[in-house]
Amino acid sequence: MSRLIADVVIVGAGIVGCSVAYHLAQQRKARVLIVEKSAIAGGMTKRSGALIRTQLAHPVEARLAIASVKFFRQWKEHTGANCGYTPTGLAIVAGEEHAARLREQTARVQALGANVQTLAPDELRSLQPTARVNDVALASYEPDAAFVDPLLATQTLAARVKELGGVFKTGTFVKRIRVEYGRVTGIETSVGVIETLNVVLCAGVWTERLLQPLKIELGLQTRRAQLAFFERSADLKVGHLAFEDWITGAHFRPHSFGLTMGALNATDEDANPDSFDESVSSAFINDVQQRVATRLPAMAHARFVRGHSGVYDISPTGHAIVGRVPSIGGLFVATGLHNIGLTIAPALGACLAELVLDGEARTVDVSALGVA
Ligand SMILES: Cc1cc2nc3c(=O)[nH]c(=O)nc-3n(C[C@H](O)[C@H](O)[C@H](O)COP(=O)(O)OP(=O)(O)OC[C@H]3O[C@@H](n4cnc5c(N)ncnc54)[C@H](O)[C@@H]3O)c2cc1C
Repeated sequence: MSRLIADVVIVGAGIVGCSVAYHLAQQRKARVLIVEKSAIAGGMTKRSGALIRTQLAHPVEARLAIASVKFFRQWKEHTGANCGYTPTGLAIVAGEEHAARLREQTARVQALGANVQTLAPDELRSLQPTARVNDVALASYEPDAAFVDPLLATQTLAARVKELGGVFKTGTFVKRIRVEYGRVTGIETSVGVIETLNVVLCAGVWTERLLQPLKIELGLQTRRAQLAFFERSADLKVGHLAFEDWITGAHFRPHSFGLTMGALNATDEDANPDSFDESVSSAFINDVQQRVATRLPAMAHARFVRGHSGVYDISPTGHAIVGRVPSIGGLFVATGLHNIGLTIAPALGACLAELVLDGEARTVDVSALGVA
């Protein structure tokens, strides 16, 4: 049994854990160790749809996204490498029933500094002439929305962390967080004990399993979500905007290699993150294709190429849970990231690093998302 000592231990080397590690390591104030049971980005990050956008319903999440978009655009300056950042633009479309909510949401994130604007249906049609808009009452347009390669983003961030002195222990399972007299003292892993006074739990859908022995309940749900990739028809070879469609209940975006990735806005059944069905069903493929083709009729005969599933971590409020765990000194958590974890990861990592090192998050005040 080896015995290691670190100032800060991060559990989980997904995009969030690596972002926290980057922001900590960059300050060179603490010895940082990242413990990961599988591989870097081996959890839900590699399954992500990886659409990056700022138009999120919760104002703190929107602020995190706005700060994160800047980071994504300057990825090379931060890491020395690319993350596959590919701008697409995003249109959120609503019918009469939800137009007022979309207008209000757009105004709210615009006031926070996001580059978004509302469009009338004919304006959307000018931007995306191949789109059907006769059922659209209002669209919200975000020109800077993009997608990244989630694996590449996490790996390049991790490589920079290593250059800055951070240490990764992959293939190492964290069995338990040790707490004595209300304060973290270390973690027990499959290869021994690691002593530390600070643990940042970035274990995504597995978070609750490490908190339950400490009698902390976040009430997270773990829900399966399927993604399908289709080969675009000749009419759409040049690409198209990403869409979050509140009318059809689907979202989709262009992907590399002339593909379009589509998914449903609603989630599937509860899923065990260690044993869920990783494939996609033919019912889902037909359903999502029909919904995508309702907006982009040229997708009606697109060929299904491949698909996969992942699991979302969903909190009782539907929003992220971020910050210190009040009942245990030195324990921090970031979870409940649902379908926005990639989008907000850079700023979220900065905030957690600030909380650990300085006791307060300056990049964005995340106290409204704190552990109850
Ligand atoms: C299908 C799907 C589509 C998505 N689409 C988008 C999107 O378009 N845009 C967007 O912004 N977000 C999207 N998301 C959400 C986003 O991908 C996630 O929120 C984000 O990747 C979560 O990162 P994470 O680092 O918190 O978790 P993970 O990537 O899951 O990392 C957690 C890590 O912790 C490790 N771990 C867990 N328990 C232990 C333990 N006991 N010991 C050691 N290691 C442990 C795991 O192995 C894992 O590697 C999507 C998610 C899914 C599932």
